[in-house]
Amino acid sequence: MINDLNLFLRLSEELIKAENEEQVVTPIPPKELLQYVDIALTEEASVDQDFENALRSLVLNTPRTATHKFYNQLFGGRNAKAVLGDLLAVMLNNSMYTYKVAGPQVGVEKEIIHKSCALAGYPTTADGTIAPGGSMSNLMAMLMARDYGRFHITQTGVESGLCMYTSADSHYSIPKNASFIGIGLKNVRKIETNAKGEMIPEALEEAITQDLAEGLTPVMVNATAGTTVLGAFDPIDRIADITEKFEIWLHVDGAYCGSVVFSDRYRHLVKGLGRSDSFSYNAHKMLGTPLTCSIILTKHRKCLYDSFAIDADYLYQTDQDDYNLGKTSLQCGRRNDALKFWTLWKAVGRKGLEEAVNHQFYLAKIAREYVDQHSDYQLYSYPDSVSVCFNYKGIEANELCTAMYEAGELLVGYGEFKGQEFVRLVTINAGNDKEDILNFFKHLEAFASAQFGSSS
Ligand SMILES: *Cc1c(COP(=O)(O)O)cnc(C)c1O
Repeated sequence: MINDLNLFLRLSEELIKAENEEQVVTPIPPKELLQYVDIALTEEASVDQDFENALRSLVLNTPRTATHKFYNQLFGGRNAKAVLGDLLAVMLNNSMYTYKVAGPQVGVEKEIIHKSCALAGYPTTADGTIAPGGSMSNLMAMLMARDYGRFHITQTGVESGLCMYTSADSHYSIPKNASFIGIGLKNVRKIETNAKGEMIPEALEEAITQDLAEGLTPVMVNATAGTTVLGAFDPIDRIADITEKFEIWLHVDGAYCGSVVFSDRYRHLVKGLGRSDSFSYNAHKMLGTPLTCSIILTKHRKCLYDSFAIDADYLYQTDQDDYNLGKTSLQCGRRNDALKFWTLWKAVGRKGLEEAVNHQFYLAKIAREYVDQHSDYQLYSYPDSVSVCFNYKGIEANELCTAMYEAGELLVGYGEFKGQEFVRLVTINAGNDKEDILNFFKHLEAFASAQFGSSS
């Protein structure tokens, strides 16, 4: 074991050195992978130097999400305290379903859940769990919403006529999950958004009224706190007025930016959150823990049990349900995704997490101002968003992003809003500074003039 841990340390040191020297790896075309990396599994054992070399080339050829040139997705960077917690979770290898095998790790997860409920403005009777990602948090919320007041569904299956609502700019996991849970893609109403990408409450109310008139049963409204492309916040308070009036479950999908609850300065973006029935946020996005760490909370503790607790005598043999987390999770065996978040939170405090969140908005402001002040750019984003969307010199966003990726220059993605495609710079890595953001533009401009020079 110790030898392999030493190898881990050596490879980690080499990786960090490589990250500092050349922050992006030149991508290997998938068909040529075997030429570059010794991936093949063979009859005979691979030992010592062969094994180490295979591992080294694999590690050093993998995209570097922790560097200052990775802006491609809604995660990035590397938080040392969180990594430490995750490494320890692997060493300990507990499964979170029972107190008997996870011991105090159960308390670690429950502490995160309870403190998160308080930040969301939920009562002390609220509860939650950790799911394998934001899509699965949404799935859990949608199952609870489906079963709320319709508990017979868990016994007899889904009846027809159920429908739900989400904005046209919400995450694709909402319709995807609707197909999983027997509601059906066609029964998801995509509510129109305004110019900033926020759900229009009047359009929501109209859709609900129409469905009710047709005898359908609305089961859930999903509001998004940070839409995936623009980073827009749906107006929760106004949406809650409607869900309370019609008695419909309100879920807030905060996978991307729900972590604003940690910030006294930005919590107002989810004003009204305490009125929702469920809320999820990804600590692996704004808070910078390693993938995955998604927290799903509900105001109705009983709903967690109604939708997820099935008894298993071979598993739940000791302690109360409260400490047997398997009773309220999707999975049976479940890795400890709590410890990495706990080590981070413990080390920096709520105030440290607030700083990380505030810093991301600061970086976005730097980027937005840069784009705004340079006439070669066109800006598509609004304040209070950590997605900065723009086009440069009219170059097609997908061509620019793909060319930069293929040249091993920068990793950044493109997105689309109301038919307009643009580069989406995500300032979610709190390890970045003003300089890194300005460097991003410098690299992009130099690359564009070398590659697309004549077209500009
Ligand atoms: C990222 C995201 C999700 C999905 O989260 P995963 O952890 O990738 O499954 C859901 N909703 C929104 C708004 C997101 O941005």
